[in-house]
Amino acid sequence: MGELLTIDGSRGEGGGQILRTSLALAACTGTEIRLANIRASRPRRGLAAQHLTAARAAAEICGGELSGDELGSIELTFRPGRPRGGSYHFVVPSAGSACLVFQTVLWPLLAADEPSSVTFEGGTHNPMAPPFDFLAQSFVPLLERMGASVLLRLESYGFYPHGGGRFVARIEPCERLAPLELLDAGPVVERRARALLARLPGHIATRELGVVRDRLGWHEDECLLRRIKTSGGPGNAVLLQIERQHLTETFTGFGVRGQRAEAVARGAVDQVERYLAAAVPVGPYLADQLVIPLGLAGGGAFATLPLSAHAETNIEVVAEILGRRFAVSSFPPHGVLVSLGAGPGTGARPSRPPPPPSAP
Ligand code: ATP
Repeated sequence: MGELLTIDGSRGEGGGQILRTSLALAACTGTEIRLANIRASRPRRGLAAQHLTAARAAAEICGGELSGDELGSIELTFRPGRPRGGSYHFVVPSAGSACLVFQTVLWPLLAADEPSSVTFEGGTHNPMAPPFDFLAQSFVPLLERMGASVLLRLESYGFYPHGGGRFVARIEPCERLAPLELLDAGPVVERRARALLARLPGHIATRELGVVRDRLGWHEDECLLRRIKTSGGPGNAVLLQIERQHLTETFTGFGVRGQRAEAVARGAVDQVERYLAAAVPVGPYLADQLVIPLGLAGGGAFATLPLSAHAETNIEVVAEILGRRFAVSSFPPHGVLVSLGAGPGTGARPSRPPPPPSAP
């Protein structure tokens, strides 16, 4: 057995992101890793349900060996095998985000030799996690521009705290991710606000959309109330989408019990205002996600807002596991340029040795 690469999970953002990115890149490259100090500084330290599902999912798709995979564990050892496509079903118990499990298994499944159909169950619209709509309408279209083919279908909504949503991802193998460049914000082509409402009174959405119209000046016909019939429990989210020529950005306010509808909408509107004022194409959450495919592609660049701790952590893990170093510089007047020297695209399996010759 090879020597383990130790990754200190308390570094950088110090939460679940370093764990998911490490598992994903380890599975893509066949790197054996030991994750130490997992979420050590969080109030409830160690693996929570969502992280545990993600770790076991990563091991399952590549027939890997996992030890330390228990709730609350702060150390995990992962010896990945080769990712295999196929049919998978991952369930996040409790209110954890299923979208974050998708974030973990997507990369190794792109590196597999066969297509996959993966059903995810759990939260689809959780605070502090990408909502399904962000994945489907903002993130996946950019991956497709890099040559990947990923189809997402939402079957039922899972709002915090009930969870219980479900979506399916069809992922085709991608031999080679192409570098992507997103430097020019370009004009806004379309904008839309949707207030999602499941088993809650209509005035919540009406008040949220009122804030969007007042603050952003969006028209009545750009603001829609969407009643959700298929959901694990009651819930509400406000999705604000800005469509530009080269990408669609999604900013979300998540309704939580005890918070006024106006405050939920204001949180999302603040994000939109900050994004539009910076005149860059890529918002902070998309920046967090794009570091991984650019790292796997071995090249690309994007202009964004000042980086989050999640993005910085992903940059560090890409350097550690893939050995690829991003440059981060200013992008006048208010932005940040994240770039990785163009090299030949190496797809999602940069350092895995070739398979042994098949038996005659
Ligand atoms: P922890 O509880 O340890 O902080 P976690 O695993 O629940 O960990 P994070 O490590 O904080 O979660 O990771 C959250 C992920 O969700 C990040 O990739 C972040 O970019 C993404 N994210 C959070 N909010 C949004 C949002 N509104 N839209 C899109 N992506 C989001």
